[in-house]
Amino acid sequence: MFFFFLFGVGQRVKTLKAIPARLGSINANLYCVNCNKTAYPVAIRRDSWFELFFIPVFRIKKGQAILACDRCKGPLIEANACPTCGALVEQGDRYCHNCGAKT
Ligand SMILES: [Zn+2]
Ligand SMILES: [Zn+2]
Repeated sequence: MFFFFLFGVGQRVKTLKAIPARLGSINANLYCVNCNKTAYPVAIRRDSWFELFFIPVFRIKKGQAILACDRCKGPLIEANACPTCGALVEQGDRYCHNCGAKT
C-alpha cells in the first residue's frame, strides 16, 4: 500500500453577518474596482486554515475583518460614483464622464 497525504494552508473567505463598528462608517461612497460599480459593503475575513486533501480541518489564523464588495468580495475603495450610472467620478468633477449626468 502506498499512502500519501496532501496538506497545506488555504485561505477561506468568511462573510461576517454584521459589519464590525471599528470598520467605521459605511455611509461613505464605496466603490468596487472589480465590478466597476458602487458596492454595498459586507464585512469579510480571510482566515487561514490547515487543509487536508483540500478540506479545511482547523483554523490556524483568524484574518482581519475588512469591508468588501457584496458581489465579488473584492476590496472597496472610497470614491464618488455617478448617481445615475454608477461610474467612478473623480473628486471635483462636476459631470460624469460616462453618461454626462451632473454629480
Ligand atoms: Zn465587486
Ligand atoms: Zn454617469
